[in-house]
Amino acid sequence: MLVLGIETSCDETGVALYDTTRGLVADALYSQVELHERYGGVVPELASRDHLRKLSPLVRQLLDESGHTLQQLDGIAYTAGPGLIGALMTGACFGRSLAFALQIPALGIHHMEGHLLAPLLDQTQTPPEFPFVALLVSGGHTQLIQVDAIGEYTLLGESVDDAAGEAFDKTAKLLDLGYPGGPRLARLAEQGTRGRFRFPRPMTDRPGLDFSFSGLKTHTLTCVKQLRETDQLDQQTLADVAWAFQDAVVDTLVIKCKRALKQTGLKRLVIAGGVSANQHLREQLRSTLQGMGGEVYYPAPAYCTDNGAMIAYAGACRLLAGQQDQSPPPALRPRWPLVELQGLA
Ligand code: ATP
Ligand code: MG
Ligand code: FE
Repeated sequence: MLVLGIETSCDETGVALYDTTRGLVADALYSQVELHERYGGVVPELASRDHLRKLSPLVRQLLDESGHTLQQLDGIAYTAGPGLIGALMTGACFGRSLAFALQIPALGIHHMEGHLLAPLLDQTQTPPEFPFVALLVSGGHTQLIQVDAIGEYTLLGESVDDAAGEAFDKTAKLLDLGYPGGPRLARLAEQGTRGRFRFPRPMTDRPGLDFSFSGLKTHTLTCVKQLRETDQLDQQTLADVAWAFQDAVVDTLVIKCKRALKQTGLKRLVIAGGVSANQHLREQLRSTLQGMGGEVYYPAPAYCTDNGAMIAYAGACRLLAGQQDQSPPPALRPRWPLVELQGLA
């Protein structure tokens, strides 16, 4: 079964072809980063218009370059939420119309299920077996989920305020690193002196699996202000602050992952979402899980942030199980709790 996946929930237009026997056969991504950069964040209306402009040529390119035709498609999966409503609508209308014209099934996919299943796309590593604990760390979500099977999700804990990626982006902004700041902050932190500053690990001193990252951002701001006022904020010091921030976020995530594994008695941890591209997080989790006799799985770097491949894959799993949009198709969900999803059976 050959499935076209379409991702347009935010500021990346992602399309991909996933074949249920051959695996991922092609993918293409167009990032709108330059478009939104001068506004310091994503402008929803501009995002929708740009998806609309890019979708058709990108799908054409995907098919041509991989030597496929529209007629070979067996199904279309598109992101139905959560995300920006206008952006979701462009991908959904495009996908549904194309499926209607080709008389093949279409299916709306949960963006976070896409992220969650992205490590299973990687044909170079053995995929994690179910059940496992998943740490979803992206621009809009920080969640610990027990995954018993596709669609069988139990929420173990989540952020009560900012998501980890959001904290990275906002902190980067106040360090004048521009937009999108997360990866830039991580790069700057690589030059930082370990241990010169130590930032708090929020909510680790009490039981539970919830997170809070907004205080860390304020802590960084206060620290930077003091350094600036005393004329100590040179480039190296800025990198040292970046390191301290990153280390605090990573350490907090590691502590809660350990707790979640202990609580569930599971040994496998999957990390996904944009922040799972963070090298320090990957290293820390790898060594922690090694020490526990467990294993950590993560997507290839290109599939940590938004992409069409993860939607094609999640769609292929569900379409293969016979699921598809009914007529009329369900409404798109700008907000959509992952635990509301149904399994494959
Ligand atoms: P969501 O998936 O929750 O709807 P999103 O789609 O905007 O949100 P993603 O595309 O999964 O989020 O990830 C983007 C986020 O990942 C941004 O906040 C970005 O700063 C962060 N990010 C990307 N690379 C890194 C990195 N190396 N270190 C830290 N953060 C990173
Ligand atoms: Mg993005
Ligand atoms: Fe995302």
